[in-house]
Amino acid sequence: MPAVLVENLCKTFPGDKKSTGKLAVDHVFFEVESGEFLVLVGPSGCGKSTTLRLIAGLEEISSGKISIGGKEVNDVPPKDRDIAMVFQNYALYPHMSVFENMAFGLTLRGLPSQEIQSRVEEAAAVLGLTSPDNLLLRKPKALSGGQRQRVALGRAMVRKPKVFLFDEPLSNLDAKMRVEMRNEISSLHRRLGATMVYVTHDQVEAMTMADRIVVMNQGRVQQIATPRELYARPANRFVAGFIGSPPMNFLRGTLANSGGQWRFRETAETDPITLVLPGNISERIKGYQGREVILGLRPESLNEFKADMSEQGGTFEALLLRVESVVPETLLYLQTGGHRLVARLSRSELNQPEGKKIRIQADMTQTHFFDPHSGLSLSP
Ligand code: ADP
Ligand code: MG
Repeated sequence: MPAVLVENLCKTFPGDKKSTGKLAVDHVFFEVESGEFLVLVGPSGCGKSTTLRLIAGLEEISSGKISIGGKEVNDVPPKDRDIAMVFQNYALYPHMSVFENMAFGLTLRGLPSQEIQSRVEEAAAVLGLTSPDNLLLRKPKALSGGQRQRVALGRAMVRKPKVFLFDEPLSNLDAKMRVEMRNEISSLHRRLGATMVYVTHDQVEAMTMADRIVVMNQGRVQQIATPRELYARPANRFVAGFIGSPPMNFLRGTLANSGGQWRFRETAETDPITLVLPGNISERIKGYQGREVILGLRPESLNEFKADMSEQGGTFEALLLRVESVVPETLLYLQTGGHRLVARLSRSELNQPEGKKIRIQADMTQTHFFDPHSGLSLSP
């Protein structure tokens, strides 16, 4: 039995005088295994927060079904859903101490004060709020951003909920603190063995923290998979372009077969590049013979061609527009006859002048193909 089951979930916000209703969540489905860390990721406005708020019961669903621990909760009020939510703006009570902030929800529930004391102290110890400095008696204004976010986490932990829901909890922190808190939440997850649903727009955060990822766009689920799987086998062009940084390069072109050899020819006004495909391409891709396809190549699949490399059919000339050093890597911005491409080299030096042609090697064993109309992946 999944810890959380979301089936055909829809949410339409009512329109105003100027517009009709807005379908913010469109037949969303996923399940969260018990103990799993599931991340919902997608661009701003794609319906992540709304989905989370529907699970929490903070918004009324338009249609569909949500179950927590095997029980339908569509009509269960938020306080009886056995979930705890952590938000981006941690919303601590400024006039209460750290201890009181963490204890508040339990006090409302009428737990015995001894139990409250022990739960708060336990959570505070795990979160490093008691040593080296004991922060329990401080007010939120005397805490750093990271410490406040820990208190917000602690407030969720003391509830010992069935499911933790996080809505972009690290967005207000600086880059270094964000990485630190990412690790802390991950180790907290392992330590508690808790079920967590985590929302972020940041694909790096999703890729580093998740057991599985639900990629959303425009209210719809695009793909559900492990980080590795999403990267290796994106289901469609949206996922392919969203996961990975810099994003995957997409080239429009046609597939042709001559003498048993398959080629991709770029669509371009001038100097189209041609790439020879490996012999073992799938029947599905072969079905596009003579038709337009989108070829996807990740920046790390493009390299500077060196004399000692075998040709492998994937070499082409491109104009080197710009070299950007991101030590220890180098990004090359390239122009072919019809496309701008980015190559990522895993070393920091490149002795090639900008504004000149350069020979590039594409690893043709790492290609992705997409239907130009549906955007769906043609890879098996
Ligand atoms: P995300 O969290 O992925 O950025 P949201 O779930 O907040 O996206 O929003 C999804 C869509 O629903 C957006 O277009 C947003 O403008 C709209 N929306 C969210 N909340 C409301 C609301 N209370 N009333 C009307 N529209 C809303
Ligand atoms: Mg949001």
